[in-house]
Amino acid sequence: MKDIEYNEKKGYFGEFGGRYAPEILTSALIELEEVYKKFKNNKKFNDKLNYYLKNYVGRPSPITYAERLSKEWGCNVYLKREDLNHTGAHKINNTIGQALLALEMGKKRIIAETGAGQHGVATATVGAMFNIETVIYMGNEDLRRQELNAIRMKMLGANLIGVSSGTATLKDATSEAMRDWALNVSHTHYIVGSAIGPHPFPTIVRDFQSIIGIESRKQFKKLTNKLPSAVVACVGGGSNAIGMFYGFIKDKDVRLIGVEAGGRGNLPGEHSATISQGKIGYLHGTKTLIIQDEQGQIVPAHSISAGLDYPGVGPEHAYLASIGRVEYVSVSDSEALEAFKELCRLEGIIPALETAHAFYYGKKLAKELGKNKNLIICLSGRGDKDVSEVKRLLGDNL
Ligand SMILES: *Cc1c(COP(=O)(O)O)cnc(C)c1O
Repeated sequence: MKDIEYNEKKGYFGEFGGRYAPEILTSALIELEEVYKKFKNNKKFNDKLNYYLKNYVGRPSPITYAERLSKEWGCNVYLKREDLNHTGAHKINNTIGQALLALEMGKKRIIAETGAGQHGVATATVGAMFNIETVIYMGNEDLRRQELNAIRMKMLGANLIGVSSGTATLKDATSEAMRDWALNVSHTHYIVGSAIGPHPFPTIVRDFQSIIGIESRKQFKKLTNKLPSAVVACVGGGSNAIGMFYGFIKDKDVRLIGVEAGGRGNLPGEHSATISQGKIGYLHGTKTLIIQDEQGQIVPAHSISAGLDYPGVGPEHAYLASIGRVEYVSVSDSEALEAFKELCRLEGIIPALETAHAFYYGKKLAKELGKNKNLIICLSGRGDKDVSEVKRLLGDNL
């Protein structure tokens, strides 16, 4: 394992990251970078952020010792309960932070892309609470899979725009949001929802999500007087994972494992396992690993979970994989469904399908670690949004 060396001033993580954005966006990205630099360690800003995280989101989210899973899997399993945040996932940690930055920049309008709809709901929520005009882009395929979240966004007063280009999923919604931003940049802030995009987004999103890992480390130490053997999180663009891992990144004895979506198999178009199967390229303004063909054309991703269905990954993950600090594995659609059912039955928690990927691998890892070892799984979100899709897939076999 190599030592971690960041060059965050330029927005690079090793060779990954950077700012490969059209000229029209460069000034907005520099403005955001400057504002963030100014407020990152500003007491008043952080007091405000912490006020909302505590009194609106409900932080700190608990760590739950999963008694039945631990017994069944033969290892102590702890769950970091991001599903208990207001709006039901980790996304709101980032949208509150970025909405506060937008207000500091005097921007009157926020836009966002969304896959599973969780980031869209979290953005629509802060748009309502802070009284900022909100526009959300969502692929039409995802609108079908995630109808509940689409309705929620509209109820919250956001203007929801369906995207039909490409595969009509997250990549296409992101491209459309970037186009909107380029046209309206003077009065609009683009709240990127994962640790992706041009610098400074991957750093900003990671910092706002790092509360997951910082709290987890503190809570776990208080409970057990130890550090866990391993920490597991699912990886779409990589925001819940990087937020979780960041709290433990310097603890070299703690294994960190990111779980990607293996979809229906290894063939191109059948999965979203960017780190295991991707190659270096450029997507949405950043240099990272991307699922692409021989000509460098992006190959559509697939996952049962809309939130993991993205052909790129945050550049910091590409870097952490390259130096061997984080292990990345993949879990298939059917394995995720199996874990989904198991978590419902054994712990009384209906997880998001994204999260279910982390659980399937958690089970494998628990068997490998064995008794008296401790494992934390990031329970990134709850599964209400997925119940009709799971019912469609499983029929009466729930
Ligand atoms: C959006 C989402 C993910 C995937 O996004 P990351 O940026 O990789 O965290 C995972 N879990 C849930 C519940 C989500 O809503």
